[in-house]
Amino acid sequence: MLVDSHCHFHLLERQRDTEAALAAARAEGVGHFLNVAVDVESRESLIALAERHPEISTTIGVHPSGTGADPDEERLAALADHSRIIAVGETGLDYAYNEDRPAWQRERFRRHIRAARRVGKPIIVHSRAAPEDTLAILSEEGAREVGGIIHCFTEDWATARALLDEGFYLSLSGILTFRNADALRDTAARIPLDRLLIETDCPYLAPVPHRGRENQPAYVRHVAECLAQVRGLPLERVAEATTENFFRLFPQAPHEGLADGAA
Ligand SMILES: [Zn+2]
Ligand SMILES: [Zn+2]
Repeated sequence: MLVDSHCHFHLLERQRDTEAALAAARAEGVGHFLNVAVDVESRESLIALAERHPEISTTIGVHPSGTGADPDEERLAALADHSRIIAVGETGLDYAYNEDRPAWQRERFRRHIRAARRVGKPIIVHSRAAPEDTLAILSEEGAREVGGIIHCFTEDWATARALLDEGFYLSLSGILTFRNADALRDTAARIPLDRLLIETDCPYLAPVPHRGRENQPAYVRHVAECLAQVRGLPLERVAEATTENFFRLFPQAPHEGLADGAA
């Protein structure tokens, strides 16, 4: 069984086809999905989807480049207080999108970490072109108390090492399969297997051989296959390890009754 540790069902172009995307993913052996919030306005629909499908867990948070409602710490903690919301995020820093590195991004990130610590839930971190500030804020805010995932990890080994030392899991996306990603594949070969996760970040970043088209949760299998190749391991071993890692981080994510060779 595979887990897609970061996807956006609600952002798929053909939203009406959630059932089809889910069926396609199941057919590829994907048994659990973390459907990640990018705003708080979608909270009710994210929860509704998670309540309809026990294999879809969800989160709450405002994306670092999001422009919608931006609740304070107390409100965020209240919004995170739901059994199907298992993490706070996605949150973090995106200096590629906001090149002027605005202070409000750092403040928003700190606020999410504080809310996560209040409710005792891990955080989902989006970090783009901002490794130093991401690390500094995680450390200053005591984020290791809740831990979480650095999603769509693309940084170098030194940054990987520092994030691992902060207690985080590193999640690899379809970028791992890109022709020009040799450096990332070298780094991925060095990350301890018990700290790795895989994701699609769909609808973005479709892996080879679907690059350039709309991504979907079923394609997390291509990330797993690439990681297996990079590590010189059978696919089953990578599937087992990344799935165990996910449920170690999120013991409250339902995974009873799923076909699971690793269980
Ligand atoms: Zn992201
Ligand atoms: Zn995302």
